Amino acid sequence: MRSSILIIYTGGTIGMKTDPDTGTLIPFDFSAIYEEFPSLKRLKVDLEVQTMNPVIDSSNVQPHHWVTLAELIRENYDRYDGFVVLHGTDTMSYTASALSFMFENLAKPVVFTGSQIPIGVLRTDGRENLITAIEIAGAHDEAGHPLVPEVSLYFQNHLYRANRTTKRSAEALSAFYSYNYPPLADVGVNITYHHRLIRQLEHYQEPLRVATRFADDVCIIKLFPGLTEETLRAMLSIEGLKAVVLETYGAGNAPTAEWFIRPLEEAIARGMIILNITQCKGGAVAMDLYETGLRLQQIGVVSGYDMTIEAAVTKLMYLMGSYDDTEIVKKQLKESLRGEFTR
Ligand code: ASP
Repeated sequence: MRSSILIIYTGGTIGMKTDPDTGTLIPFDFSAIYEEFPSLKRLKVDLEVQTMNPVIDSSNVQPHHWVTLAELIRENYDRYDGFVVLHGTDTMSYTASALSFMFENLAKPVVFTGSQIPIGVLRTDGRENLITAIEIAGAHDEAGHPLVPEVSLYFQNHLYRANRTTKRSAEALSAFYSYNYPPLADVGVNITYHHRLIRQLEHYQEPLRVATRFADDVCIIKLFPGLTEETLRAMLSIEGLKAVVLETYGAGNAPTAEWFIRPLEEAIARGMIILNITQCKGGAVAMDLYETGLRLQQIGVVSGYDMTIEAAVTKLMYLMGSYDDTEIVKKQLKESLRGEFTR
Protein backbone atom coordinates (compact mmCIF):
# COMPACT_ATOMS: atom_id res chain seq x y z
CA MET A 1 0.00 0.00 0.00
CA ARG A 2 1.37 3.43 -0.97
CA SER A 3 0.92 6.33 1.42
CA SER A 4 0.22 9.89 0.42
CA ILE A 5 2.08 12.54 2.34
CA LEU A 6 1.69 16.28 2.40
CA ILE A 7 4.92 18.17 3.10
CA ILE A 8 4.35 21.64 4.48
CA TYR A 9 7.33 23.97 4.31
CA THR A 10 7.06 26.86 6.77
CA GLY A 11 10.61 28.27 6.59
CA GLY A 12 13.90 27.88 8.42
CA THR A 13 17.38 26.68 7.58
CA ILE A 14 16.26 23.44 5.96
CA GLY A 15 14.81 25.33 3.01
CA MET A 16 18.04 26.82 1.70
CA LYS A 17 20.61 25.72 -0.85
CA THR A 18 23.84 27.09 -2.26
CA ASP A 19 23.59 28.90 -5.57
CA PRO A 20 26.07 27.03 -7.78
CA ASP A 21 27.07 30.27 -9.56
CA THR A 22 27.44 32.73 -6.71
CA GLY A 23 27.92 30.45 -3.68
CA THR A 24 25.26 32.35 -1.72
CA LEU A 25 22.27 30.75 0.04
CA ILE A 26 19.05 30.82 -1.96
CA PRO A 27 15.65 29.20 -1.29
CA PHE A 28 15.31 25.50 -2.04
CA ASP A 29 12.33 24.69 -4.22
CA PHE A 30 10.44 21.93 -2.39
CA SER A 31 7.83 21.75 -5.14
CA ALA A 32 10.58 20.27 -7.35
CA ILE A 33 11.42 17.74 -4.64
CA TYR A 34 11.60 14.71 -6.96
CA GLU A 35 14.07 16.55 -9.23
CA GLU A 36 16.19 17.55 -6.24
CA PHE A 37 16.07 14.04 -4.70
CA PRO A 38 15.24 11.44 -7.39
CA SER A 39 15.85 8.68 -4.81
CA LEU A 40 12.60 9.69 -3.08
CA LYS A 41 10.77 7.89 -5.88
CA ARG A 42 11.96 4.64 -4.34
CA LEU A 43 9.89 5.21 -1.17
CA LYS A 44 6.37 3.84 -1.30
CA VAL A 45 4.88 7.30 -0.90
CA ASP A 46 3.24 9.92 -3.06
CA LEU A 47 4.39 13.38 -2.10
CA GLU A 48 2.82 16.75 -2.48
CA VAL A 49 4.24 19.99 -1.17
CA GLN A 50 2.66 23.18 0.07
CA THR A 51 4.76 26.17 0.96
CA MET A 52 3.50 28.67 3.51
CA ASN A 53 3.23 32.20 2.25
CA PRO A 54 5.37 33.91 3.39
CA VAL A 55 7.99 31.46 4.63
CA ILE A 56 9.46 32.70 7.89
CA ASP A 57 12.41 32.24 10.16
CA SER A 58 10.88 30.44 13.10
CA SER A 59 11.98 33.16 15.53
CA ASN A 60 9.15 35.18 14.00
CA VAL A 61 6.50 32.56 14.73
CA GLN A 62 3.42 33.74 16.58
CA PRO A 63 0.32 31.80 17.70
CA HIS A 64 -1.59 32.87 14.57
CA HIS A 65 0.96 30.88 12.53
CA TRP A 66 0.06 27.78 14.58
CA VAL A 67 -3.58 28.33 13.70
CA THR A 68 -2.83 28.71 9.96
CA LEU A 69 -0.74 25.55 10.02
CA ALA A 70 -3.30 23.51 11.95
CA GLU A 71 -6.06 24.67 9.62
CA LEU A 72 -4.03 23.71 6.58
CA ILE A 73 -3.66 20.21 8.03
CA ARG A 74 -7.37 20.07 8.86
CA GLU A 75 -8.35 21.11 5.29
CA ASN A 76 -6.14 18.35 3.87
CA TYR A 77 -6.73 15.80 6.60
CA ASP A 78 -8.87 13.39 4.58
CA ARG A 79 -6.71 13.57 1.44
CA TYR A 80 -3.41 12.41 2.95
CA ASP A 81 -2.19 9.58 5.16
CA GLY A 82 0.37 11.73 6.94
CA PHE A 83 1.96 15.15 7.19
CA VAL A 84 5.57 16.33 7.37
CA VAL A 85 6.07 19.87 8.64
CA LEU A 86 9.40 21.50 7.77
CA HIS A 87 10.04 24.19 10.35
CA GLY A 88 12.92 26.32 11.60
CA THR A 89 14.56 24.70 14.56
CA ASP A 90 14.52 27.72 16.87
CA THR A 91 10.86 27.46 17.87
CA MET A 92 10.00 24.06 16.42
CA SER A 93 9.27 22.55 19.85
CA TYR A 94 6.83 25.38 20.63
CA THR A 95 4.90 24.99 17.35
CA ALA A 96 4.87 21.21 17.55
CA SER A 97 3.73 21.29 21.20
CA ALA A 98 1.01 23.82 20.35
CA LEU A 99 -0.28 21.64 17.52
CA SER A 100 -0.33 18.58 19.74
CA PHE A 101 -2.78 20.38 22.04
CA MET A 102 -4.83 21.90 19.22
CA PHE A 103 -5.62 18.55 17.59
CA GLU A 104 -8.20 16.42 19.31
CA ASN A 105 -8.74 12.87 17.95
CA LEU A 106 -5.66 13.08 15.74
CA ALA A 107 -5.33 9.69 14.05
CA LYS A 108 -2.62 10.44 11.48
CA PRO A 109 1.09 11.20 11.78
CA VAL A 110 2.20 14.83 11.87
CA VAL A 111 6.01 14.73 11.85
CA PHE A 112 8.01 17.91 12.39
CA THR A 113 11.57 18.20 11.18
CA GLY A 114 14.15 20.73 10.02
CA SER A 115 17.91 20.97 9.89
CA GLN A 116 20.94 22.68 11.33
CA ILE A 117 22.66 22.91 7.92
CA PRO A 118 20.70 23.99 4.81
CA ILE A 119 19.39 21.14 2.70
CA GLY A 120 21.28 22.28 -0.38
CA VAL A 121 24.66 22.38 1.35
CA LEU A 122 26.88 19.34 0.86
CA ARG A 123 27.21 18.33 4.52
CA THR A 124 23.52 18.89 5.29
CA ASP A 125 21.65 17.00 7.98
CA GLY A 126 18.39 18.05 6.29
CA ARG A 127 18.38 15.39 3.62
CA GLU A 128 18.30 12.48 6.06
CA ASN A 129 15.91 14.28 8.40
CA LEU A 130 13.50 14.93 5.54
CA ILE A 131 13.63 11.48 3.97
CA THR A 132 13.23 9.65 7.28
CA ALA A 133 10.43 11.97 8.41
CA ILE A 134 8.60 11.13 5.17
CA GLU A 135 9.13 7.43 5.72
CA ILE A 136 7.83 7.65 9.30
CA ALA A 137 4.80 9.72 8.26
CA GLY A 138 3.92 7.04 5.72
CA ALA A 139 4.62 4.00 7.90
CA HIS A 140 1.61 1.81 8.64
CA ASP A 141 0.81 -1.68 9.88
CA GLU A 142 -0.75 -4.50 7.91
CA ALA A 143 -4.24 -3.20 8.64
CA GLY A 144 -3.23 0.12 7.12
CA HIS A 145 -3.15 1.97 10.45
CA PRO A 146 -0.37 4.53 10.88
CA LEU A 147 2.47 3.52 13.18
CA VAL A 148 2.80 6.95 14.78
CA PRO A 149 -0.62 8.64 15.00
CA GLU A 150 0.49 11.68 16.98
CA VAL A 151 2.46 14.92 16.64
CA SER A 152 6.11 13.92 16.66
CA LEU A 153 9.49 15.48 15.94
CA TYR A 154 12.22 13.69 14.01
CA PHE A 155 15.83 14.84 14.24
CA GLN A 156 19.16 13.04 13.85
CA ASN A 157 18.16 9.41 14.19
CA HIS A 158 15.48 9.83 16.84
CA LEU A 159 11.75 10.29 16.68
CA TYR A 160 10.35 12.02 19.75
CA ARG A 161 6.90 12.86 21.05
CA ALA A 162 6.90 16.52 19.97
CA ASN A 163 5.56 17.99 23.20
CA ARG A 164 8.43 16.36 25.13
CA THR A 165 11.17 18.01 23.06
CA THR A 166 13.39 20.98 23.55
CA LYS A 167 16.05 22.52 21.32
CA ARG A 168 19.20 21.80 23.26
CA SER A 169 21.99 22.91 20.94
CA ALA A 170 22.60 25.70 18.45
CA GLU A 171 25.61 23.77 17.16
CA ALA A 172 25.20 19.99 17.43
CA LEU A 173 23.36 18.19 14.66
CA SER A 174 21.42 16.35 17.36
CA ALA A 175 19.74 19.67 18.14
CA PHE A 176 16.70 18.25 19.90
CA TYR A 177 16.25 16.08 22.91
CA SER A 178 13.47 14.67 25.02
CA TYR A 179 14.79 14.53 28.58
CA ASN A 180 11.78 12.99 30.25
CA TYR A 181 10.34 10.57 27.71
CA PRO A 182 12.23 8.01 25.63
CA PRO A 183 12.27 8.21 21.81
CA LEU A 184 9.25 6.82 19.98
CA ALA A 185 11.60 5.37 17.38
CA ASP A 186 15.35 5.04 16.85
CA VAL A 187 16.86 5.12 13.41
CA GLY A 188 19.95 3.25 12.31
CA VAL A 189 20.12 0.80 9.46
CA ASN A 190 16.44 0.17 10.25
CA ILE A 191 13.75 2.23 11.87
CA THR A 192 12.89 0.64 15.22
CA TYR A 193 9.50 1.76 16.50
CA HIS A 194 8.88 1.49 20.24
CA HIS A 195 5.19 0.71 20.00
CA ARG A 196 4.48 0.68 23.73
CA LEU A 197 5.67 4.33 23.95
CA ILE A 198 3.62 5.51 20.99
CA ARG A 199 0.06 6.72 21.45
CA GLN A 200 -2.31 3.82 20.82
CA LEU A 201 -5.70 4.53 19.31
CA GLU A 202 -8.88 2.60 19.84
CA HIS A 203 -10.76 4.43 17.10
CA TYR A 204 -9.40 5.86 13.89
CA GLN A 205 -12.62 7.38 12.64
CA GLU A 206 -13.38 10.04 15.27
CA PRO A 207 -13.68 13.44 13.58
CA LEU A 208 -10.59 15.62 13.98
CA ARG A 209 -11.27 18.68 16.10
CA VAL A 210 -8.98 21.68 16.00
CA ALA A 211 -8.88 24.32 18.73
CA THR A 212 -7.95 27.66 17.24
CA ARG A 213 -7.89 30.08 20.14
CA PHE A 214 -4.81 30.92 22.16
CA ALA A 215 -4.71 33.27 25.11
CA ASP A 216 -1.91 35.82 25.10
CA ASP A 217 -2.33 36.91 28.71
CA VAL A 218 0.27 34.39 29.87
CA CYS A 219 3.92 34.93 30.81
CA ILE A 220 6.97 33.05 32.08
CA ILE A 221 8.78 34.12 35.25
CA LYS A 222 12.16 32.48 35.74
CA LEU A 223 13.58 32.43 39.25
CA PHE A 224 17.18 33.41 39.96
CA PRO A 225 18.93 34.25 43.20
CA GLY A 226 18.63 38.05 43.18
CA LEU A 227 15.05 38.33 41.90
CA THR A 228 13.50 41.13 43.95
CA GLU A 229 10.03 41.61 45.38
CA GLU A 230 9.71 44.73 43.24
CA THR A 231 10.36 42.85 39.99
CA LEU A 232 8.10 39.98 41.00
CA ARG A 233 5.25 42.32 41.97
CA ALA A 234 5.69 44.35 38.77
CA MET A 235 5.37 41.23 36.64
CA LEU A 236 2.41 39.83 38.55
CA SER A 237 0.56 43.12 38.24
CA ILE A 238 0.85 43.36 34.43
CA GLU A 239 -2.61 44.47 33.34
CA GLY A 240 -4.75 41.60 32.10
CA LEU A 241 -2.23 38.91 33.03
CA LYS A 242 -4.13 35.72 33.86
CA ALA A 243 -1.54 32.96 34.10
CA VAL A 244 2.14 32.51 34.82
CA VAL A 245 4.55 29.67 34.21
CA LEU A 246 6.91 29.87 37.17
CA GLU A 247 10.30 28.38 36.34
CA THR A 248 11.48 27.13 39.70
CA TYR A 249 14.61 25.36 40.92
CA GLY A 250 15.21 21.61 41.15
CA ALA A 251 12.15 19.60 42.09
CA GLY A 252 9.93 22.70 41.93
CA ASN A 253 11.49 24.69 44.74
CA ALA A 254 11.41 28.44 45.38
CA PRO A 255 12.30 30.88 48.17
CA THR A 256 10.18 30.47 51.28
CA ALA A 257 10.53 34.14 52.31
CA GLU A 258 7.29 36.05 52.76
CA TRP A 259 8.34 38.76 50.25
CA PHE A 260 8.26 36.02 47.59
CA ILE A 261 5.28 33.93 48.74
CA ARG A 262 2.89 36.78 49.52
CA PRO A 263 2.74 38.36 46.00
CA LEU A 264 2.08 34.91 44.54
CA GLU A 265 -0.60 34.20 47.13
CA GLU A 266 -2.28 37.53 46.35
CA ALA A 267 -2.16 36.86 42.60
CA ILE A 268 -3.75 33.42 43.10
CA ALA A 269 -6.45 35.02 45.27
CA ARG A 270 -7.17 37.39 42.34
CA GLY A 271 -7.76 34.30 40.14
CA MET A 272 -4.34 34.00 38.52
CA ILE A 273 -3.07 30.53 37.63
CA ILE A 274 0.54 29.79 38.55
CA LEU A 275 2.04 26.69 36.95
CA ASN A 276 5.24 25.29 38.43
CA ILE A 277 7.87 24.04 35.94
CA THR A 278 11.43 23.18 36.90
CA GLN A 279 14.39 24.93 35.30
CA CYS A 280 16.12 21.54 35.17
CA LYS A 281 15.94 19.85 31.80
CA GLY A 282 15.42 16.40 33.30
CA GLY A 283 13.21 15.37 36.20
CA ALA A 284 9.95 16.61 37.60
CA VAL A 285 8.31 19.06 39.97
CA ALA A 286 7.46 17.35 43.27
CA MET A 287 6.22 20.09 45.56
CA ASP A 288 5.84 17.83 48.58
CA LEU A 289 9.53 16.90 48.66
CA TYR A 290 11.04 19.99 50.33
CA GLU A 291 9.63 22.77 52.45
CA THR A 292 10.63 25.17 49.66
CA GLY A 293 8.18 23.43 47.33
CA LEU A 294 5.52 22.73 49.92
CA ARG A 295 4.88 26.45 50.48
CA LEU A 296 4.01 26.81 46.80
CA GLN A 297 1.63 23.86 46.96
CA GLN A 298 -0.04 25.28 50.07
CA ILE A 299 -0.84 28.60 48.36
CA GLY A 300 -2.36 26.86 45.31
CA VAL A 301 0.47 26.74 42.76
CA VAL A 302 -0.28 24.00 40.21
CA SER A 303 2.35 21.33 39.47
CA GLY A 304 3.57 21.02 35.89
CA TYR A 305 5.25 17.67 36.74
CA ASP A 306 7.96 16.94 34.14
CA MET A 307 6.63 19.12 31.33
CA THR A 308 9.01 21.10 29.13
CA ILE A 309 8.70 24.86 29.22
CA GLU A 310 7.54 24.72 25.58
CA ALA A 311 4.72 22.30 26.41
CA ALA A 312 3.80 24.20 29.58
CA VAL A 313 3.40 27.60 28.00
CA THR A 314 1.58 26.35 24.90
CA LYS A 315 -0.74 24.15 26.98
CA LEU A 316 -1.59 27.10 29.19
CA MET A 317 -2.21 29.38 26.20
CA TYR A 318 -4.37 26.70 24.57
CA LEU A 319 -6.42 25.99 27.71
CA MET A 320 -6.88 29.67 28.58
CA GLY A 321 -7.97 30.29 24.97
CA SER A 322 -10.43 27.39 25.07
CA TYR A 323 -12.05 27.80 28.50
CA ASP A 324 -13.17 30.92 30.37
CA ASP A 325 -13.57 29.03 33.63
CA THR A 326 -10.20 28.93 35.43
CA GLU A 327 -11.32 25.90 37.46
CA ILE A 328 -11.65 23.91 34.21
CA VAL A 329 -8.24 25.18 33.10
CA LYS A 330 -6.69 24.06 36.41
CA LYS A 331 -8.37 20.67 36.16
CA GLN A 332 -7.08 20.14 32.62
CA LEU A 333 -3.60 21.27 33.63
CA LYS A 334 -3.51 18.37 36.07
CA GLU A 335 -4.33 15.90 33.31
CA SER A 336 -1.91 14.68 30.69
CA LEU A 337 -3.92 15.56 27.58
CA ARG A 338 -1.49 14.44 24.87
CA GLY A 339 1.14 12.53 26.82
CA GLU A 340 2.94 15.77 27.72
CA PHE A 341 3.87 14.70 31.24
CA THR A 342 4.42 11.60 33.37
CA ARG A 343 3.08 11.38 36.90
N1 ASP B 1 16.70 30.61 12.64
C1 ASP B 1 16.33 29.39 11.99
C2 ASP B 1 14.87 29.14 12.28
O1 ASP B 1 14.54 28.68 13.33
C3 ASP B 1 17.18 28.27 12.46
C4 ASP B 1 16.88 26.92 11.87
O2 ASP B 1 16.00 26.72 11.08
O3 ASP B 1 17.61 26.01 12.23
O4 ASP B 1 14.04 29.43 11.45
